Amino acid sequence: MAKIDRRTVLEPWQDPQAIPYVEIKDLSKSYGGYVAVSSQSIEIYKGELFSLLGPSGCGKSTLLRMLAGFEDPSEGHIYIDGVNITHMPPYERPVNMMFQSYALFPHMSVEQNVAFGLKQEGLPKDEIRDKVSSMLHRVRLNKHASRKPHQLSGGQKQRVALARCLVKKPKLVLLDEPLGALDRKLREQTQFELVNIQEDLGVTFIMVTHDQEEAMTMSTRIGVMEEGRIRQIGPPTEIYEYPNSRYVADFVGDMNMFEGIVSEVDSGYVLVQSEESGCDIYISHVSDVPLGASVAVAIRPEKILLETQEPKKVGQKKRNYAKGVVEEIAYLGDVYVYHVLLESGKKVRVSLSNQVRLSERPVNWEDVVYLSWHSDSGIVLTG
Ligand code: ADP
Repeated sequence: MAKIDRRTVLEPWQDPQAIPYVEIKDLSKSYGGYVAVSSQSIEIYKGELFSLLGPSGCGKSTLLRMLAGFEDPSEGHIYIDGVNITHMPPYERPVNMMFQSYALFPHMSVEQNVAFGLKQEGLPKDEIRDKVSSMLHRVRLNKHASRKPHQLSGGQKQRVALARCLVKKPKLVLLDEPLGALDRKLREQTQFELVNIQEDLGVTFIMVTHDQEEAMTMSTRIGVMEEGRIRQIGPPTEIYEYPNSRYVADFVGDMNMFEGIVSEVDSGYVLVQSEESGCDIYISHVSDVPLGASVAVAIRPEKILLETQEPKKVGQKKRNYAKGVVEEIAYLGDVYVYHVLLESGKKVRVSLSNQVRLSERPVNWEDVVYLSWHSDSGIVLTG
């Protein structure tokens, strides 16, 4: 999983004494009888880049618009730095929003675009010039100060929009799919730039995205949403390694899911009988599941070992082991993904990094293969 390594170790959510900077309390929004956001509470800390991640229509933008003041909550409260801003008009909030379209004024230069908000505030000319100049340096656009938006690339326009947003020193910056308009390569580069600027200035960002890779790469924490509710909040690695439900496991990254019944539980392990996998699955995490519960065992494609020879160590019980036939092979540049059809009819995806050299002969379509995985690779999901 790609992730920008943040220079500062910032985990205030681990500290019970830490005071949240943005507090969303029991916030709801209904349109007529339709509930777009359903009584949600989130605590976000100063300097975080918090992402709201979810499919289209799950309520991300409604939540963001309530933070910006463009939408009035049906119920609940929003506090920023201890101040209740729930019904404050947008222009009075210490909040600035950057739109996907960037919404730059086409007839104004880069410099004028960035200065616009400060002029409206009536700041002295010298102060505006200094602030704009230092912000343009920060986003590396000082050489393009006199250009018009149409003379800039997509990434540069995005940086102007960011500069215009940040120059007013808001307490909170809201980003609505900020990189959606950029092509893949530029997007990756811009992700780094955005995180660097955000870390340097220590500003708190809340970003809405449906792109899980983007959320995983950039965020301090992610809130995964489904139908107006947050299903899980956590740092990217936690969401990826320990999803709390089938929904989150399925939405974030690629996942194999084997349905089954818990047949043994002990203090150190869980055993799941799964017809789909064609074997008993032994999981060495301590997991709070009752005997007989219907669960799914989630296993990431990169955690499954694929071999063309039957492994010798499988033993009588044949746990965490399945036999199948290769149906498809996808080459994704840095990884191979094998689609394997098990004898149960279940399809499993196994990925293999390009760096890993197969010690045996290469795997081909229609080869019989043996899959196995470690007892700590499965995650038991009840929800
Ligand atoms: P997302 O940003 O996750 O794509 P939205 O927050 O835009 O989702 O929308 C959540 C739900 O609320 C959707 O079903 C959408 O149709 C509905 N919705 C959003 N705005 C309005 C509105 N002004 N009137 C009625 N329904 C709305």
